[in-house]
Amino acid sequence: MSKKTVAMHNLGCKVNAYEMEHIADSLQESGYKIVPFEDKADFYIVNTCSVTNIADRKSRQMLHRAKKENPDAVVIAAGCYVNTRGEDNVLADGIDIVVPNEEKKNMVDIIRSWERSHQNEDLPFEADPYPDEAPVSAYERDHAPAEGGYTRSFLKVQDGCNMFCSYCIIPYARGRIKSRTIADVTEEVRSLISKGYHEFVVTGIHLSSFGKDRPDDHEDLMDLLRAIDAIPGADRIRMGSLEPRIITDEFAASLAEIPSICPQFHLSLQSGCDSVLKRMNRHYTAQEFLDGVERLRKVFKDPAITTDVIVGFPGETPEEFEETHNFLKNISFYETHIFPYSRRKGTPADRMSGQLSRAEKHDRLVILSDLNVKNKTAFQNIWTDGRTVEVLIEDNNEGYTREYVRVRSVAALPSGTIVRGRITGRIDADTMEFTPE
Ligand code: SF4
Repeated sequence: MSKKTVAMHNLGCKVNAYEMEHIADSLQESGYKIVPFEDKADFYIVNTCSVTNIADRKSRQMLHRAKKENPDAVVIAAGCYVNTRGEDNVLADGIDIVVPNEEKKNMVDIIRSWERSHQNEDLPFEADPYPDEAPVSAYERDHAPAEGGYTRSFLKVQDGCNMFCSYCIIPYARGRIKSRTIADVTEEVRSLISKGYHEFVVTGIHLSSFGKDRPDDHEDLMDLLRAIDAIPGADRIRMGSLEPRIITDEFAASLAEIPSICPQFHLSLQSGCDSVLKRMNRHYTAQEFLDGVERLRKVFKDPAITTDVIVGFPGETPEEFEETHNFLKNISFYETHIFPYSRRKGTPADRMSGQLSRAEKHDRLVILSDLNVKNKTAFQNIWTDGRTVEVLIEDNNEGYTREYVRVRSVAALPSGTIVRGRITGRIDADTMEFTPE
């Protein structure tokens, strides 16, 4: 009997991406075949996002697209959109199965239960389709090898957020902070290394809160990073988004002492203007943010600093926007992800007066996007000065330096190797030319 097929589509943040990888692995281990979303599948899973109204819309669009691809298929909505819109409402929209965030880890069992209740005769497996010990328990900790031998893996170490930024629905959708233990994470890292992974991207919804929900265990983010670094074969560690205020002198110095830490840091700015930051309920000032960046630049040589900015937040005046624009010019990020403010029902910002028009937000987005292109090019170009860089080759002779500059080698190199050499030119806007030593 042929395997049942599952097509998956992921929306939103790195945590979602991480969870999706694990769901795919669990399904494959349980005998399902993963197929492209464009194919006709038996099951479609959309791992939804609800961070903005646009994200809600995209989630709905993908769910409906799945129904169109195969009207006989079972369509599963998973994640934040289910939590924020409500399970009953999503089901009322014609979706077959809804899986809120806290249930994603049970995806295999959920699909099997559905099959049991809808099929009396043909089971989709050749032998022992429902073993007592379902490998779905692997979802939280263990990560099966991806076909093709990936070199970089996300590590989700924390979920939830207690910050309540005024525009964000996440604390309502994902709940309060919850961290894994260091022992649990390091066990996963060892398993990943044995399967060929070299680089680990430590992620969470609010990574800087790692360990704060378990104060008695005395485990914080730095302890976690040191523990991962100590594992033989954990060649590189990257970090997901950090709260600017966590970057004290001591924190920056400690980071610099961890050999596998890649000098690439994402600090979410959102606005470079204090009055807007206050309305956003962000818990830092522009100066505090700048202090964090300078501390990193003091201890790492040319670190890649990336950020997110929201343009057109309610009440953002032209002067306030200009303050953010100037702040971005002065700080020169490697990459700035720019988002036009999108109203999110149920958040304080949605109820604020002074909502800007789409055209105003678009104009501001264009201005910052131009600056982003210039800054990115300038950062890439500094690496053509002849200095040695180290590249982890991922696929097709392409890979990333420790500073996350994308390169393609002039010579053939096997994936999974770490190679030293120089950046000798530019291939396109995203990729530089790499000549191995
Ligand atoms: S820090 Fe703010 S933007 Fe980020 S998840 Fe928490 S509430 Fe949302």
